[in-house]
Amino acid sequence: IIGAAPTADEAVELIKSYQEQGILVTLVGGRIDQAVEKGLKMGYNVRIVPLGKEITAVVHVVSVALRAALIFGNVEPGDAATLMKYTMDRVPAFVNAFAPVDDVTVAAGAGAIALGFPVITNDENNIFPVPKSLIVQPDVSKFNATSLEARDIKIKITKIDIPVSYVSAFEGEIIRKADMQIEADGSRVDCFEFVQMKELSEVEDHKITVVGKDFDEFEVGEKISMGIIAHVAGKAMQPDFESVFERKFHSFLKTVSKDLCTQDKRDLIRVRVSKDTFNQGFRAKHIGEVIYAKLKSEYDTVIDKCEVFVYTDADQVHDLRHNLVIPTFNARDARIGNMTDESVDEFYTCILCQAFSPSHVCIVTPERLGLCGAVSWLDAKATHELQPNGPSQIVRKDHCIDEVVGRYEEVDEAVQKYSQGALEHVTLYSIMEDPMTSCGCFECICGIEPFSNGVVIVNREHVGMTPIGMTFSELASMTGGGV
Ligand code: SF4
Repeated sequence: IIGAAPTADEAVELIKSYQEQGILVTLVGGRIDQAVEKGLKMGYNVRIVPLGKEITAVVHVVSVALRAALIFGNVEPGDAATLMKYTMDRVPAFVNAFAPVDDVTVAAGAGAIALGFPVITNDENNIFPVPKSLIVQPDVSKFNATSLEARDIKIKITKIDIPVSYVSAFEGEIIRKADMQIEADGSRVDCFEFVQMKELSEVEDHKITVVGKDFDEFEVGEKISMGIIAHVAGKAMQPDFESVFERKFHSFLKTVSKDLCTQDKRDLIRVRVSKDTFNQGFRAKHIGEVIYAKLKSEYDTVIDKCEVFVYTDADQVHDLRHNLVIPTFNARDARIGNMTDESVDEFYTCILCQAFSPSHVCIVTPERLGLCGAVSWLDAKATHELQPNGPSQIVRKDHCIDEVVGRYEEVDEAVQKYSQGALEHVTLYSIMEDPMTSCGCFECICGIEPFSNGVVIVNREHVGMTPIGMTFSELASMTGGGV
């Protein structure tokens, strides 16, 4: 956004509207003073970045777009035509320029248009509109809609009834122990997340039930048990979709405020609520609100009704975990127990964890679960059916290069494509030759101990030293994070 809006309120309203849609906003010129005047929080972590007061500062964000083409698009430096095609096709950016637009700004705008970024302005005096490229919109309150339309950006907005913000900018935030109000930690106490398909008549849509104490009834810093159950029903719903929805709880909750952080899978979930989020009124029922809203909006083709239960009563969580949840997980695992990699014609990718580990790609096969252990081949297949353009894409296995280590031409092509070129080869069965990438969701780390020529396997719960001379967390910091 370039220049100052007619009023500081309009400036902040426009910036926030983009922020709520998960769009990175960069500011140049008078707009920065207006944001400061209104006390708007800025910085990379909230995706509102002031670049500088002079128009020349715009080069910093242009540089980001160009680097995207060079890094992710594999464009050769100097190949301007390919570079401009890449930014036009793959970088969904646009410019908002406020009146008065001087000659230098017009020149910068022309550069943006050449890269495929339309310019939207409220300057009616100095500008000759060019359809789809240079658009005059006198009404500043319509800048957002006009910009998205001009760039053909479609955003699925979910308005969620919670007292804190819900934007993707908060994914990957961490809450330190000292800032924590309460924590549910599945590695220490009973916890789980669980989706169960029901008949339509058995589900009361948008009913959120909290069973047990609410967050304000626990001591500050207390470790609590937590079980989240979503009952879903729909004419097109299938039992195979249950685990797919469960695996999404993690990303649904990670986007709440910047002070709610989660690591979720099955009954090993961890949810931390910060003091700040708690003080803004966030309570147990809001977890249910988030799960309800996101399930209904993302899977509206299969979920007609959804009801959520949030359990914080330790006895009930224990009972449900051992009598309902774990037996169901075991039954799901047993379904894939007899399948082998030879018995199927295709594998699947999973790139769900690229939200925090951008070059990580799992190749999911019948005999090789996703790294987190929560995505089986059947889950990945169901994910693909639900979202054909989503995180799980088909990988054919027609051309095997080495069946001992599990090297396939199509697997190499898939990891190259979905790691954006960061990785060229992986094997499915070897820890020595091109092992798969690791986002950090693993429960165990396996490696070679060279002096004894042995194999070391250490699990997340082990807090002591390993024979390699490093603890689990030291090893995790080296092995996680993608490539
Ligand atoms: S660890 Fe792999 S399989 Fe599991 S959610 Fe992440 S990308 Fe998907």
